Amino acid sequence: MDLNSLINSLLPSWASVAMLLSFFTYLGIAGSILPGRIIPGVTLSDGTRLHYRCNGLLLLLLLVLLLGTGVWIDLVPPTAIADRGLELLSTTFMFSVFVTLTLYVTGRQSRKQSSSLKPHVTGSLIHDWWFGIQLNPQFMGIDLKFFFVRAGMMGWLLINLSVLAKCIQEDILSRSMIFYQLFCFLYILDYFFHEEYMTSTWDIIAERLGFMLVFGDLVWIPFTFSIQGWWLLSNRVELMVAAVIANCLVFLIGYFVFRGANKQKHDFKKNPKALIWGRPPKVIGGKLLASGYWGIARHCNYLGDLLVALSFSLPCGLSSPVPYFYPIYLLILLIWRERRDEARCAEKYKEVWAEYRKLVPWRILPYVY
Ligand code: NDP
Repeated sequence: MDLNSLINSLLPSWASVAMLLSFFTYLGIAGSILPGRIIPGVTLSDGTRLHYRCNGLLLLLLLVLLLGTGVWIDLVPPTAIADRGLELLSTTFMFSVFVTLTLYVTGRQSRKQSSSLKPHVTGSLIHDWWFGIQLNPQFMGIDLKFFFVRAGMMGWLLINLSVLAKCIQEDILSRSMIFYQLFCFLYILDYFFHEEYMTSTWDIIAERLGFMLVFGDLVWIPFTFSIQGWWLLSNRVELMVAAVIANCLVFLIGYFVFRGANKQKHDFKKNPKALIWGRPPKVIGGKLLASGYWGIARHCNYLGDLLVALSFSLPCGLSSPVPYFYPIYLLILLIWRERRDEARCAEKYKEVWAEYRKLVPWRILPYVY
């Protein structure tokens, strides 16, 4: 592709604006009316709790069904997203800038004093726009932070499905593409199946909603996590059976560690006496879980996520570093995040955290880090 056609394909079009707005409108309306469990979020510093309608799985399945029907009756071209990848990328990027500038202005003007809406203004435009001003801003009663992360995860699946359709259309479907698609599909489905666990994650409880999060959710997740799929569109890899088996093992081990650790923490927060691996949990200071995965390494959940991320790239073979963008990025992100969370927990739990560190000295990777 020459420079001119690259620039042209990067320019937002009305079609990509319409696609994005239709997607958000669907998520806004269907997300508000479809049934789902109402999950209370963590208790905020002023003692209040937000409530989240966890109907993401139903929302996703209905969306795929509607789009599938649209494809069936020739209303929606299955490769619509794959054909407009760069256009959609730039449109979503501009949307993120627009939304976060709006959040900056409305956040600064807010006089609300609740923990979720109280403005945190440092006075530095860049800092406040990047990290956000309010913890949980809303639009028409919709919690925007929860909304955007949902949009990002669903967007990732939609991109993958469209790339898969393009692959089938061009008759280049390979074993690599099938395994990449399968692993991502299971991961995303599992994410929405366990959507309520999201309500106690760092992003939801600790980060304010600024450009960093909105860009991360809307642009970064769907467009960079799908790099392997795009790469496989123009690169052919022959996977040996042994490689497929090893790849499946990396996915399964990663998945069980990732899901198991997050579930143990979630269950522990709900009921500190809940059994962990069939035994009463070891609890430090009545607040921190030190058994199960959390007794092997602090943030063992990150290790699981990293293995899963690696399993998304392994189907692409080892001929190029490009498909490894996601696991490499995730490694850097999670090491950085672990340090920030460590500082936060040390501040919050003080001597209880110090005791936990003594009991569980490893972070992320047991016996190594
Ligand atoms: P965690 O879910 O690990 O949450 C961290 C919080 O958990 C801490 O602030 C503390 O909060 C609590 N906590 C920590 N240790 C303990 C313990 N031993 N016992 C009880 N509570 C504890 O972090 P994240 O939100 O960062 O990650 C959630 C998941 O999302 C992870 O699996 C991660 O891999 C994944 N993720 C994926 C990303 C991606 O791009 N794919 C990006 C970021 C995360 P409290 O104050 O409530 O006690």
